[in-house]
Amino acid sequence: MTQHIHSEHLKNLPEALAAQLTSIMQSDEFTGYFSATQYQSLLSLSNMTDTEFKLALLPIAATRAYCGISNFHVGAIAEGSSGNVYFGANIEIPGVQLNQTVHAEQSAISHAWMHGEDGIKNITINHTPCGHCRQFMNELNNVDQLSIQLPNRPAYKLADLLPDSFGPKDLDISSRLMDSQRHEYQFTTDDLAQIKAIQALNQSHAPYTQNHSGVSLQTQAGDIFAGSYAENAAFNPSLPPLQVAINLLLLAGEKLEHITSAVLVENANGSMSHLAETQSTLEAINPDITLEYLSL
Ligand SMILES: [Zn+2]
Repeated sequence: MTQHIHSEHLKNLPEALAAQLTSIMQSDEFTGYFSATQYQSLLSLSNMTDTEFKLALLPIAATRAYCGISNFHVGAIAEGSSGNVYFGANIEIPGVQLNQTVHAEQSAISHAWMHGEDGIKNITINHTPCGHCRQFMNELNNVDQLSIQLPNRPAYKLADLLPDSFGPKDLDISSRLMDSQRHEYQFTTDDLAQIKAIQALNQSHAPYTQNHSGVSLQTQAGDIFAGSYAENAAFNPSLPPLQVAINLLLLAGEKLEHITSAVLVENANGSMSHLAETQSTLEAINPDITLEYLSL
């Protein structure tokens, strides 16, 4: 999926860097992140420090925002433990209630998580994280090491931004978001959309409700984007699996209008369900999207 890159974001960058950045981002394989090798190559062409370069990339990440309600473009860049570097941007869906919004920090972190990362080293954001995002990040497995960088500020730790925090330990929960353990739900099928949704369920983080769940979305072009549920100790900042899948689809340069079908799969014995919200959000995007529901 070819992505366009605005020339205004390239004009202050060294020529060789702008050329390589354009080449990577306009290739069909680019889905919104740089492999560690690509990133190090770009960084060496930038003549900047790692922090300076990530700050320079933020305006490009922010162009990925889908923010038809606020028109407020937030960009985030998360580096996973592999060294891969992931874009994130805020998502608002017109017609859908605001609590279904995805914030840029949630976008970059869940993007990295869906690519198999088991931790975030640092996150760079063009606006100060809101309280919701501070709480969302407090669920991460390596929260004490996480570095948070904003323009014109020193690097923060989450404890600087969220002192005296409430988190999983207050509910006696030991698992954390991005822990690498997988659930072992089984369902025999050769339908790729179902398989991807079940893989997403097996990666989900739902220690408070046991609603292990995943969503896959298929597009007109036949691509499948899958998202896992990311639950939070404070409940409200939980990120539903549909949003995690929509986020991957938008960051890859696809359009919501191109979704043709969806699969939601969830644990039948969880203490809540995503079915009603998934149906209503998909309905707002396009009433013709078919939703298949599996309860395991
Ligand atoms: Zn936020």
